[in-house]
Amino acid sequence: MPPLPGPGPVPPDWGQPAQQWQGQDQQEQGIYGQLASLSVSDDRPADSGSRHEQVTHFLQVAMQMLWRFEGFRAQVCGLPPSSDPLVSGVQTIMVSITERQGSPLSSPLLHSALHGVYAEQSRFDSINDPCEALEVVIGKFCASTDRRFAGCVEQLFGMSIMEMCECNYNGCGEMLEPMTYKQSASFVSVPTLLGLQSGVPGTIAQQLATALGPNCPVPTCKKQMGIQRYLMQPVPQVMSISFTYEGMGATSFGGDILGALLPKAEMQLDLQQTYKGVSQPVVGSLIGMLVCAQGDGAGPRYSGFFYDAPFDPSEGHWSSFNAEAQSSVIGTDWSAVTTHCVQQQLQPAVLFYSVQLTSAAVPAPAQAPLPQPA
Ligand SMILES: [Zn+2]
Repeated sequence: MPPLPGPGPVPPDWGQPAQQWQGQDQQEQGIYGQLASLSVSDDRPADSGSRHEQVTHFLQVAMQMLWRFEGFRAQVCGLPPSSDPLVSGVQTIMVSITERQGSPLSSPLLHSALHGVYAEQSRFDSINDPCEALEVVIGKFCASTDRRFAGCVEQLFGMSIMEMCECNYNGCGEMLEPMTYKQSASFVSVPTLLGLQSGVPGTIAQQLATALGPNCPVPTCKKQMGIQRYLMQPVPQVMSISFTYEGMGATSFGGDILGALLPKAEMQLDLQQTYKGVSQPVVGSLIGMLVCAQGDGAGPRYSGFFYDAPFDPSEGHWSSFNAEAQSSVIGTDWSAVTTHCVQQQLQPAVLFYSVQLTSAAVPAPAQAPLPQPA
């Protein structure tokens, strides 16, 4: 495992996390925690053909999404020749998408360019979950021996979080050792967001900032503790938010679920308000989304949405793109995306927020329109 930038204390053992803390397990692991297992590859003959196709299909969409992050694309293409073939492979793909817009990335091109990613095919067991598939890809990139390339990826998605766990019960005040970790995505529970169990819908910001902790270790207390999250410097260029659908059973949802879920995606997240420890105004603007449609037997079909913001903000619009690199304009605001997803049964998987400092010294970015009052 390559050395990671930034110091961080070893997470203390907080014992068995509470049931509601499950998402945390995924976060603790994050991309960096998974790196150790990435070198283990196993070529299984069974169904490797269809899985290979599924990996190709996913990469066709995922690489187009990465290409749309202009700063990342420019950084990667500007890197000097690398000894890691993965880096030249990603550069080749970025150039290919630029030069052949509207043409899908061919399977042979992807296979030769991203050979190292395909070597992890066995890790795509959960290819039904695009969030995990994206983590495998990002994790592989971060494990590159070319630290400049890995640094570009970490700057793009890497978030450093510190958690404070405190017991607020009846003045107990017990605090656990702070825990610091890195992640490439924040996990947000869809059932919690929609209030399916509690009857009380929540917000994305709430789930980013707080969580339920383990039980208080004070023998006379034992009440459930609360976690508050601090966002540490440096903030990522793009914050990715992965939806989890735990306990929701069916792999495909009706329009009522999708119609309730998509409007929960806030156009802007004020990270200074959301997290603790953010000293300057930082805003995340929704710019992209990976979605998944359950295919009939052929496995899930992925596609993406992206907000194209030209210099004139009044010309901004949402576009969709698919694995075949076909792109179409959906509309000028998010409600058009919602309508499209409900009609096409497209299930949101990952949201992408472009992160910008909003101090006067930094020019304001072209941002997605604010939701219109109903
Ligand atoms: Zn307590």
